Amino acid sequence: MDPQTTKKLAHLLRSGATMLDKTCPECNVPLFKKGDKIFCGSCNREVIYVKDDQEKIEVESQLLHRQVLHQLKNVLYGKIDNLTQEIANTPMEDIENQLDLLSKTLYVISQIETLHEKQKSETKE
Ligand SMILES: [Zn+2]
Repeated sequence: MDPQTTKKLAHLLRSGATMLDKTCPECNVPLFKKGDKIFCGSCNREVIYVKDDQEKIEVESQLLHRQVLHQLKNVLYGKIDNLTQEIANTPMEDIENQLDLLSKTLYVISQIETLHEKQKSETKE
């Protein structure tokens, strides 16, 4: 282990993380646990334990769903940005369309956030 990694691990221990008796599949450095997160002490990658292949598939698809929703949210925020510009450049009496789109976009974002919250509480169980 190089001195820099050793330093990192010492820092993690001081910050209250627990060192586990398992190592990172990528770099073989011990894994750490802090709160309900397990991660590699060197590459900081989060590690998720699975019982079997079935659980692995479930966890992977959950992560994929989360990623897709995250992307969608970013795209929608981009649209809100566009709409804001448009509204700024349009006379008050003509912005009804934009406001309608804005309200729909915000609604979808709030739906995505509700889904996120739901997923979070499901993974905690
Ligand atoms: Zn690692």
